[in-house]
Amino acid sequence: MKKIDDLSFEELERALVELGEPKFKAKQIFDWIHNKTVEDFEGMSNISKKTKEELSKVFEFTLGSIELKLESELDETKKYVIKFEDGNVVESVFLKYKFGNTACISSEVGCKMGCLFCASTKNGFLRSLTTAEMLKQIYLIQNDTKEKISNVVIMGSGEPLNNYDNVIKFLKLINDERGQNISMRKITLSTCGIVPRIYSLADEDIPITLAISLHAATQEKREEILPIAKKYKLDEILKACDYYVEKTGRRLTFEYIMISSFNDSPEDAEMLSKILKNKLANVNLIPCNYVKEANIKPSENLDIERFKRLLYDKGINATVRRELGSDINAACGQLRNNYLKI
Ligand code: SF4
Repeated sequence: MKKIDDLSFEELERALVELGEPKFKAKQIFDWIHNKTVEDFEGMSNISKKTKEELSKVFEFTLGSIELKLESELDETKKYVIKFEDGNVVESVFLKYKFGNTACISSEVGCKMGCLFCASTKNGFLRSLTTAEMLKQIYLIQNDTKEKISNVVIMGSGEPLNNYDNVIKFLKLINDERGQNISMRKITLSTCGIVPRIYSLADEDIPITLAISLHAATQEKREEILPIAKKYKLDEILKACDYYVEKTGRRLTFEYIMISSFNDSPEDAEMLSKILKNKLANVNLIPCNYVKEANIKPSENLDIERFKRLLYDKGINATVRRELGSDINAACGQLRNNYLKI
């Protein structure tokens, strides 16, 4: 059976017409699914019994539940393990910032990219998430926290540009003014640099913020920690980024994980400022987590501050990612691994 919560508004209208129902009902049904976030047809009190019967012959709902929740005692960060119908689980996070409530969501179950510092890739890739499963993470968080999500970051497990069609549909659905109406400008998609997809994304005409997981300023160093760097070279990524800015006018974010004695020296800062010179960009410096197997150690705070200052001196905007929920802040993807005991 098809999933009704995977349909765009226009697809829902078409489905109703095919069932011999008037298409104006799409507005009410869409509201039940994407605002009131019901999980069955029964709850749709202003929809006729006949319409509900017709719909339930063809459609069902995507089911998901919160399996585990960790709540920070320091701030209001909450980490979730969310389980889908097939038993697969992903990690999602609720973060409260001054500028709004943010949901960090996953786009795949596991990940095949193999970035050395990342726990999400440890057990490989299992499957892509559907559009509705991405929406579901936000709906479950909202229902649990009783807070409206205003910002979304697609930075959980998975490489979103490898699940391109479902992610694009998710962006359009979460932005739909008849549904959650989250502004595209408040959505950030993070990629490790799937070059052809950066071009496609630029051509979509959706002004989201693109975050590039750069993590090193030379091709050689990137290859050491990001296996995908061998396929998509640094200069190709930077060229694709220029195209993205040209097409969308949006400022890029370059994420840079600070790894002690690997990419945090003044020379690294100098190199980074060189490759980002004259780019409409912001650098996000991220203190990394320990990864014993890969001998990855977080940079000292002083080194991070020095790095930031050196970038600033060269005219590059940089911020250090504020750590929220540091008491529950196991490495990204670690909560799921603990839950699965992998
Ligand atoms: S950092 Fe992102 S792309 Fe890399 S392995 Fe982790 S989830 Fe995948």
